[in-house]
Amino acid sequence: MPTKIFIIEDNPTNLELMTFLLNHAGYEISSALDGNTAIENLKHEKPDLIICDIQMPGMNGYEVIKYLKAKQEFVNIPIIAVTAFAMVGDKDKILMAGYDGYIDKPIEPQIFASQVATFLPESKRVINNHDE
Ligand code: MN
Repeated sequence: MPTKIFIIEDNPTNLELMTFLLNHAGYEISSALDGNTAIENLKHEKPDLIICDIQMPGMNGYEVIKYLKAKQEFVNIPIIAVTAFAMVGDKDKILMAGYDGYIDKPIEPQIFASQVATFLPESKRVINNHDE
């Protein structure tokens, strides 16, 4: 079974880049451009990990996390932010809100997939061997 990652991101360029890099690494990706659509789609999908943007129109990331983490079926699914917030206080706020971790923006294409992998259980990590 392929490892599935669900991405919630309102910026199409960022979404495209993350999708490309994670697909290339061997992950199966689905995504939504806003929180409401994501929550709707996640009723029918069970990803192994969720990447959730923080600043989005409509529901922001904190609201999405609050909603998902209140549901039993999402308690054990890691949810991470990819964020440009540089302030230590913001990082604390991200973790307090229920995110399991974060990756700093800008996205570094060579290491992004392995950064994401660190939040997956070992058995779900894809080892990328085709990128020499
Ligand atoms: Mn955003």
